Amino acid sequence: MPTEPAKSVGIDLGTTFSAIAYVDGVGTPRAIPTSDGAYVTPSAVYIKPDRSIVVGEAALEALRERPDRVAVNFKRDMGEKFYSEPVGGREFSPEALSALVLKKLAQDAVEALGDIGGAVITVPAYFGDARRKATQDAGRIAGLNVIDIINEPTAAALANAFHTFLAQGGEQSDLSIARIAARAPSTTLVYDLGGGTFDVTVIRIDHNDFEVIATGGEVRLGGIDFDKRVVDYFCDEFRRRFGIDPRDTPESMERIRNTCELAKISLSENPQTVLICEHLGRKMQVPITRGRFEQLTADLIARTQISTEMLLEDAMLTWDRIDNILLVGGSSRMPRVARMLAEISGKEPEMAIAPDQIVAHGAALHAAICDFDRTETPQATGKEKRLDFDSAATDAEADKEQQKMQAIMAPTKATAAHAIKLSDVNSHGLGVIVRSAIDRKTVNSVIIPKNTPLPTSRVKLFGTEAKNQRQVRLRITEGDTRDPRGCTQIGECMIRHLPKGLPKGAPVEVSFRYDSSGRIHVKAVELTSRISADVQIERESGFKKIDLDRMTDAVSELDVK
Ligand code: AMP
Repeated sequence: MPTEPAKSVGIDLGTTFSAIAYVDGVGTPRAIPTSDGAYVTPSAVYIKPDRSIVVGEAALEALRERPDRVAVNFKRDMGEKFYSEPVGGREFSPEALSALVLKKLAQDAVEALGDIGGAVITVPAYFGDARRKATQDAGRIAGLNVIDIINEPTAAALANAFHTFLAQGGEQSDLSIARIAARAPSTTLVYDLGGGTFDVTVIRIDHNDFEVIATGGEVRLGGIDFDKRVVDYFCDEFRRRFGIDPRDTPESMERIRNTCELAKISLSENPQTVLICEHLGRKMQVPITRGRFEQLTADLIARTQISTEMLLEDAMLTWDRIDNILLVGGSSRMPRVARMLAEISGKEPEMAIAPDQIVAHGAALHAAICDFDRTETPQATGKEKRLDFDSAATDAEADKEQQKMQAIMAPTKATAAHAIKLSDVNSHGLGVIVRSAIDRKTVNSVIIPKNTPLPTSRVKLFGTEAKNQRQVRLRITEGDTRDPRGCTQIGECMIRHLPKGLPKGAPVEVSFRYDSSGRIHVKAVELTSRISADVQIERESGFKKIDLDRMTDAVSELDVK
């Protein structure tokens, strides 16, 4: 009897929603439904008083009654020691909370597929090494065999490239990455407006490489901000008519928020809709047109436009260098998004197929490609790479296939782990936050650019901000964007007790030395007084193996619903 190797899965571990997908036997990426039949799972964890754990929609519902016991948005704290607030009176690491979401997704996948093989998990392109490692740890704590961590826009671009490949006559079962890439547009701008975050990324696709060449956006801008404008519109009307403001009664607000979100979604399809809400026994109907909604949210769209234009400017790219614009994330379904992008670029943006699942689809494709590459033995060359789960004709052959796969799994895992570890180059820039002399904005000034061979040392000169400045505080960052929000602060260095009377712009020399064991030495000297300060930063590599094993055991015994 032919046996199928367990299929690997792709997971979009999102800030507000997560999704899991796999590639079926004929090569189609498919999202795996939850036990309630939904294709996305809210990234929310409810720790009940009896210590049992609920993840997803039911956890989100519990947020109203027990906000002290529900954790949401913990992805924002990934790489920090603890989630921003205690849950049920206890501190949790973002890795542990993410592991519970991953465990729920994996349970749904096992329900649908039987066993699962490896897992590819996606992260935002701006995540640095520490946050990538934390994501990998979360996967391990959930008991997953994490075969790779890839960028969300890369996953979206890969899934889109695969659809283009099929549309141009490519064969569904052909997972040769070079052939998929060959049919894809070579430079794609991925505009991803989700529930709580906005990311914009430029990806260059070249043969086997899907390279992120620039990334930007806003960490706190998404669908929720658009909902709020509709909520305010309704509440203002209500107050005008009845003299009471529903915003003063939290119990009414949850229902009003839900109604307003549904109305917003409906306005993506229809030119108008009616908001019907009740508050303290008074029911009110407020009509709203798409035009009015677009007026109410014009500044939010404008913010995404500015981020997009700034990204291109920072990367020294012009629209004629962008081959296509890919819309990702549920909120990019708002028609104003595509219109705005068409206006500024002169190009027609392309709506991703299932924009809220495309990242999971891309991760699943990458997982299938890894599976498929793994089953290729070194001697099996010259053969076209095909995804063919039914190829083993007998049990004995199937066992042999399995052994082959086991034998080469270890190096693949090692390669995947190596890719996200500090190796011989730094994968993200290192710098300091300074105030720009031109526009007075706070910016990240990169001192060691990404992909610099290690060990290395670099020096940069800055000036004090004000006359008679007595101390200089340097916030040390990891990240490649000029916008400090795209960076993670990894340390601080402070020059104190500078002499009185220094002029504005007194020279401060900042030197970075990055040694091959991943230690960063930062020294700052005010050159006229020679007063200096230094700091050494040991790159956090997340949990120690022993802690990880302990947490993995603990999570494996937990019952997650
Ligand atoms: P995501 O995180 O990508 O799943 O996006 C979730 C966000 O997309 C939520 O704020 C939804 O309200 C929003 N959304 C989903 N579908 C639509 C739609 N058709 N029109 C506007 N917003 C939508």
